[in-house]
Amino acid sequence: MTPYPLTTEPIVEPDDAVESALRTANVLALVASVVHITGDPAVLRGPIRPRRLAFNEFDGGLAEEDQTELRRFAFGAVKAFRDRGSETPSPLEGPVVRELMDWLAAAHVDDDYAELFLEEMDLGGNDPRRIDVHSTTPPSVLVIGCGMSGLLAGIRLKEAGIPFEIVEKNDDVGGAWYENTYPGCRVDVANHYYCYSFEPNHGFSEYFSRQPELHTYFRDVMRRHGVDRHVRWRTEVERAEWDEEGLLWRITTRALDGSRSEMTAAAIISAVGQLNRPHIPDIPNLDHFAGPVFHSAQWDSTVDLRGKRVALIGAGASGFQIGPAIVDDVESLLVFQRTAQWMIPNRLYHEAVSAGSRWAMRHLPGYARWYRFLLLWQATDKMLDVVRVDPTWPGLPGSVNALSERFRQRLVQWIEEQIGDNPELMAKVIPDYAPLGKRLLQDDGSWLGCLSQEHVELVREPIVDMEEHAVVTADRRYPADVIVLATGFRANDFLFPMEIVGRGGHSLHDVWNGRPAAYLGITMPDFPNFFLMFGPGTNLAHAGSVIFQSECQMRYIGACLALLARNGGGSVEPTAAAFDDYVERWQNELSQTVWAHPSIGHSWYKAADGCVYVLSPWRLVDYWKMTATPDPTAHIVHPPRAAS
Ligand code: NAP
Repeated sequence: MTPYPLTTEPIVEPDDAVESALRTANVLALVASVVHITGDPAVLRGPIRPRRLAFNEFDGGLAEEDQTELRRFAFGAVKAFRDRGSETPSPLEGPVVRELMDWLAAAHVDDDYAELFLEEMDLGGNDPRRIDVHSTTPPSVLVIGCGMSGLLAGIRLKEAGIPFEIVEKNDDVGGAWYENTYPGCRVDVANHYYCYSFEPNHGFSEYFSRQPELHTYFRDVMRRHGVDRHVRWRTEVERAEWDEEGLLWRITTRALDGSRSEMTAAAIISAVGQLNRPHIPDIPNLDHFAGPVFHSAQWDSTVDLRGKRVALIGAGASGFQIGPAIVDDVESLLVFQRTAQWMIPNRLYHEAVSAGSRWAMRHLPGYARWYRFLLLWQATDKMLDVVRVDPTWPGLPGSVNALSERFRQRLVQWIEEQIGDNPELMAKVIPDYAPLGKRLLQDDGSWLGCLSQEHVELVREPIVDMEEHAVVTADRRYPADVIVLATGFRANDFLFPMEIVGRGGHSLHDVWNGRPAAYLGITMPDFPNFFLMFGPGTNLAHAGSVIFQSECQMRYIGACLALLARNGGGSVEPTAAAFDDYVERWQNELSQTVWAHPSIGHSWYKAADGCVYVLSPWRLVDYWKMTATPDPTAHIVHPPRAAS
């Protein structure tokens, strides 16, 4: 199904159209494509070299004239390629690929990372993360949820010929990208990386797509892979219980009309996500408010905000997008922000993908794949050094180490550049905790532009009461017509509200007891053949994309299913020792990060006990290696009942 990545649509445009396209294509990915087209790495050995590839910068720090020179050179090569009939070039030799990688990264890329990036780019079109159980009688699987990871599971299971069904509470695919329809909703991970490695989309219209476009992407992928035929929509899993005798899961589902049904499966993949059960804040008398009140993830599009006094409660990633998107419609906007948020400049955040880049993705061999590499490289692991707490650092809690302090200064400077002439607003928007302590927001100035408007007020005081027509703080009453709760999700209530009962009749929620944990974020002792995607310890707060995480998890789950298939059935689970050891290392690592630092007050990264259970502290490359294949010493594989 995946086209060979170096095969592209033939170029039929005349010279001037090609030249014009190349003018706005990404210059680094363009050079990479030229190396593929010509098979000649000479340009990499010339005098023009990228100087750096920093976060949210994609031109390698090249001077304008150097970029012009590279584009001129590329134009000649692309013309010749067109004139030869746009024939698919031969694959590059390994050393040339490595040379190209280092050139683009403006640094030596370590071998382990290079291996990861090569797999992710998949220049050979082999789709190396497919799963294969090598069996004609593979175990049956129930997948819970058809969001990004449930769909991925469905695709991989289908390719492997594993019988499966997906149960989804909504009536369409996409999970968060189906449910969040609020104005301004868009992804804040670069989209050409925030898509499956085996399903690149060369047609994204923006670098950070809006929700409708992402939803369309997932729907198209689902249909292309025929996964829709395996989904039971508008149905929730209420309960699943492990049957030790039968070595299978007994599952109770409830459809939207309330009807219940029973089913069984040898294995379950829970792909319910972390951010889909709205957190409704405990504001006194919230139900006294007379006007519409709705959560960001349950946007009421029947409410016309034009001419209304809107109170936006909460300004994390969702509120931060909603405010600028509605500000021009409303009569007044009150933003109740309990904690200020750090934001990082990103000039592409609301930008359309350049015409040249879109053209190049379709027509230039390797361009799209190496563009993905550029996104990957600048978003991989470098921020981990920024989040590690140096306990001797004198700048605590504003920063947690020297790098964190440098980063903080850069972010403060970004705020100053925008509103340096407004000290009152500056005082309200500069966070008093270290960068990355909470989710870092992508910003092109729209947030402070919104807050600076005459009819907008940022309120930092806590809400103490709600009246019929007003939000009340300790010292003021703020009249409002509509309340938007952008107050986040119950991220720490993993698998809520399902009841999962493992061996011995123990409920997963009781076992976790507020401290959710899984081996590699995927499996748990006494919950045989139960696999989590996007489970505890797998969210990313130091860059990367959760799609990458899900692909690692699914590859791992596929290998576990292959173990089962080879075993002729039975069950697989981690040993208690492997689980305990992993959890200890995971929590130990997290406890040394800013995310767990006491200076971070409210944050969905933190559970009620102050510990962090949602995040991964690992380098992407390490998680990729840990999940490459199940460690036989860390797993117990029980034989099928008949054989035991
Ligand atoms: P969030 O980051 O948890 O933000 C919730 C906001 O509500 C915060 O400002 C929080 O204040 C405030 N809040 C919560 N309870 C409150 C209360 N009782 N009184 C007053 N304020 C209260 O939630 P989110 O904005 O929905 O984002 C959650 C996550 O979803 C993000 O971090 C991201 O991972 C994902 N997301 C991604 C995108 C994207 O890709 N573009 C967009 C939206 C969301 P405190 O900060 O003080 O707790």
